[in-house]
Amino acid sequence: MQSLLNETKFILDKYNLRANKNLGQNFLIDENTVEHIVETANIGKEDLVIEIGPGLGTLTQKLAEKANKVICIELDKNMVNILKERFKFYKNIEIIESDVLKINLKEIIRKEKEDKKISDVKFVANLPYYITTPIIMKLLEDKLDVESITIMVQKEVAERLTAEPGSSLSGAISYAIFYYTIPEKVCVVPNTSFLPSPKVDSEVIKLNVLKKPSVEVENEEMMFKIIKTSFMQRRKTLINALYNGKIISNKEEFEKILKELNIDTRIRGEKLSLNQYAEITKKIISK
Ligand code: SAM
Repeated sequence: MQSLLNETKFILDKYNLRANKNLGQNFLIDENTVEHIVETANIGKEDLVIEIGPGLGTLTQKLAEKANKVICIELDKNMVNILKERFKFYKNIEIIESDVLKINLKEIIRKEKEDKKISDVKFVANLPYYITTPIIMKLLEDKLDVESITIMVQKEVAERLTAEPGSSLSGAISYAIFYYTIPEKVCVVPNTSFLPSPKVDSEVIKLNVLKKPSVEVENEEMMFKIIKTSFMQRRKTLINALYNGKIISNKEEFEKILKELNIDTRIRGEKLSLNQYAEITKKIISK
């Protein structure tokens, strides 16, 4: 750990910078974790890697040794300047200064696939924790042509992301994860592996993106609206949560739907499986 710690301190000192907490800057200083992330991402010579929030470039360098090309998307101008200087002799690293939430990832991927001999696209990131959920939702909902997403997130968030829908740890986002991907837990990373050290431990997870979603549903936007609405009042029964959220206007009619689907009418939304939500959506739409 010492050498990466020293290197990180050295770069920050050289440019007279400190980690910007508002941008979720916690730099990885544990060599083994860096190796583990790169190994997990399973990068080959024909792969395009898109790294979100490269920071000082700790992961970037290792990724570039394996990949055909690495595209880094970094919001902080100070980091971008450091990266440009550090990797000026690397032909396969492109640095884009942008907010990942605002950039057109679909277009970037389309262009790269057209121009180069790219077989797969893989996302890798030690994510800025203040926007973990929006970033993951963007990567999934944009329906990008990607193979996998290997990310470091807070441990507690990792538990929720990888929790089977309907289980006690699951949240609305778990349904999206299991709809679009097969999630995999990789390793827990103690808070001492970062500079500065965050309050909580982290975890690396890998989302293996499915070629087609795990359940069939005609109107997925509606299904996720129903899921989000039931989780907004997760302690209420599904019927009451959907009624209060104005998804349904007639409780009796909806009770009938649940009976037809052999679902307990007193059930809470948090107990339903993805498949059950798909069936409920179908019935609600056809009414
Ligand atoms: N990858 C580096 C590492 O592992 O040491 C840094 C990871 S740090 C947890 C998160 C990085 O995301 C920071 O470099 C931060 O500036 C960047 N970042 C924060 N918000 C961003 C955004 N909206 N778009 C792109 N990058 C962002």
